[in-house]
Parts: sequence; C-alpha cells; structure tokens
Amino acid sequence: MSLATEQALIRPHGGELVGRAGDRPDGVDRLETIRLTSRELSDLDMLASGALSPLPGFMGSSDYERVLEDMRLANGLPWALPVCLAVEHAPAGDRVALADEAGRPLAVMEVEDVFAYDKQREAERCFLTRDEAHPGVARMFAQADHYVAGPVTVFERQKPPFPELHKDPADTRALCAERGWKRVVGFQTRNPIHRAHEYLTKCALETVDGLLIHPLVGETKSDDVPAAVRAEAYRVLIERYYPEDRVVVSAFPAAMRYAGPREAIWHAIARKNYGCSHFIVGRDHAGVGDYYGTYDAQRIFERFEPGELGITPLMFEHSFWCNRCEGMASPKTCPHGEEDRVSLSGTKVRELLRGGERPPIEFSRAEVADILIDAMRDPDRGIG
Ligand SMILES: [Zn+2]
Repeated sequence: MSLATEQALIRPHGGELVGRAGDRPDGVDRLETIRLTSRELSDLDMLASGALSPLPGFMGSSDYERVLEDMRLANGLPWALPVCLAVEHAPAGDRVALADEAGRPLAVMEVEDVFAYDKQREAERCFLTRDEAHPGVARMFAQADHYVAGPVTVFERQKPPFPELHKDPADTRALCAERGWKRVVGFQTRNPIHRAHEYLTKCALETVDGLLIHPLVGETKSDDVPAAVRAEAYRVLIERYYPEDRVVVSAFPAAMRYAGPREAIWHAIARKNYGCSHFIVGRDHAGVGDYYGTYDAQRIFERFEPGELGITPLMFEHSFWCNRCEGMASPKTCPHGEEDRVSLSGTKVRELLRGGERPPIEFSRAEVADILIDAMRDPDRGIG
C-alpha cells in the first residue's frame, strides 16, 4: 500500500493506530491474575487491535473523571464511555496477568492506578438512568467496586466468534485503501438487515466510495438475534443485492453497553479507527427500552465542534416501503399516510417468522426471511 493511498483515508482517532498486541513476557504464570468479564474481554481485544486508539490500556482516574464529566479524555480528545477494568481490591504487584473467564492468561497490565468509583454516578452520567432494569446499568452494578488501570500488552488474542468476518482496524484500512476508497461509511447493526436498513446503507453509499457493514458480535441481550444467524443473513444479502467491490463486511467485536447517545459517539470513534469517514446514526442508536429519546443519539453529536470527532455522522429517519411512492422512503421523502406504508412492529415480524411465514417482500428480502425462519425452527439457535 502506498503512503499516498493510506493518507487518503481518515486518520485514526488521536492520529495513529495504537494496537496493544505483543509478545508474551517471561514470568506471566507467577503474576497475580485478574479474570475478565465478557465485556472487559471485548474491550481488551479492541485495545489489542487498535479499535480503541489512542487508549493504551484500561483507563485511569484522570481519563475516567473527564470522560464522565466532559466526554473527553484527560488530554481533551473526545471520548464518550469509560473503558475500565473492575477489581475487588488493589493488586499487590505493579504488574498483573489478565485472563479469560476460564483463567487462561491473555495479557499483562502495568498497574498505574487503582481507584474507587461511584456506580450511581457512572450510571447517571453514562446511561442517563440508575434503573437496575437497564441491562448496562445492571451489569455495571454487578461489577467489583474498584477500577485498576494501566497499559496492556495482549499476547494471546481470543478466538474470534466468526473468523471469516474477523478484521482488525489495520485490515479494514488496508482493504479500503486497496480499493481506492477515500470516503467510507460505517454501518453498525445488531439486527438482521431488513429493507429499511438496506435502503439507508445504500442512500449513504450513494454519496461516498465504500460501505463498511460492521455488525456488532460482542455480547448482547439474550433476546437479540444471535450473531451467527445475523452473519448468515448479511452474507446472503450482500451477495445478492450489493456490488461486491463497494462493500466490506466485518464483525465489530464490541459488547453492547446500551448507553444510547454516549455509545453512539463511542461507536463512531471506534469506526474512525477502522477507516470510516462517515457513520450512520439511526433512531435510538444503541438504545434499549424507552430510556432514551428517539433522536438523542443524533443530537449528542452537536456537542462537539465540527471536525473534533473527525468522523461525520449521517443521521437517518426510520424508513419503509410506500405503496404510492412505489419505493423505499422515509417521513422526510414521502408525503403519504400510514395507510400507504408497509410497516410492521418487531413483535409482528417475530410472530410471522415463528409461524414459518415470510414478512412482505417490501419489508424483508425473502432470502433473509428464510434464514430467520430456519433459525427459529432450530431450538439450538434459540431465537425467542
Ligand atoms: Zn409515499
């Protein structure tokens, strides 16, 4: 890849990719070991790959405080959510091993800071609620009471759940550069792609060079459609309905926090590291239940000066097929009423699929519907 091509892509957040993968140092087995939760393991892997550039490790108190108060790191760079590692008590040494849930060591951390944190305050600031029924709040409340911080070196990457979709920021950047793309739009999803999402990704793609479909495959609520099923549905859809040389599909390894507006900023910054100059923000991005206003995740971008984030949000309305427009549209582009629009609730769609019935083709491509119907019939795949 030539330097000129590389420079045509947006620069990573903070200027360069900071990946923390490295060699296994001697003596790891003698270190005190901290077992990470699945959310912390996702963060660790994103630190390894550079997806969380410029963070070199789990956050210390000065970054944490400023993120909570100002949505910035201590050095002023925009950053919307804590990336922290919870522990019961301070480690004895200045170096610890970080292990997966089975106790297998994956990384070492140089301990620079250990601090107590106020869970109520973090909930209020980041999730905008202290309600324990909120999945992100519940997970945070269940954590240990201190954070341990410092740079990490990851010597063993976790096995990606979808090896064929695994691409680190350096990989997606190389793919975009090879294709000569300069402006790339990222699309985050944790759902199957129905016609509405196809429409908005294609609207966005009309104005840029390439599309990165970047489904989130980290831990989600148990009632979201499993990532394996979604991956299959994306594959079929891209094969049949997108030009191959304009789309890259890759897994986004983050765990959902369900922090709504702040998570939208966090998602956008990570996508910048993957090479995206633009990022699609729909209604209630990263929301759950009715904790956030429909447009809060779009409006929060106004709290930064243009150019501060680097990545440009593209705001979308919900879209639908309109019988009178005879095409996909949104309230911004269709003057007709509800009676002319093909819209189905999530509940209705699940009911149809569970009964083995395809939703109308104006709502969902038949190929996608069939994959979901098959998955619902298979008890092992466990779609509610
Ligand atoms: Zn219309």
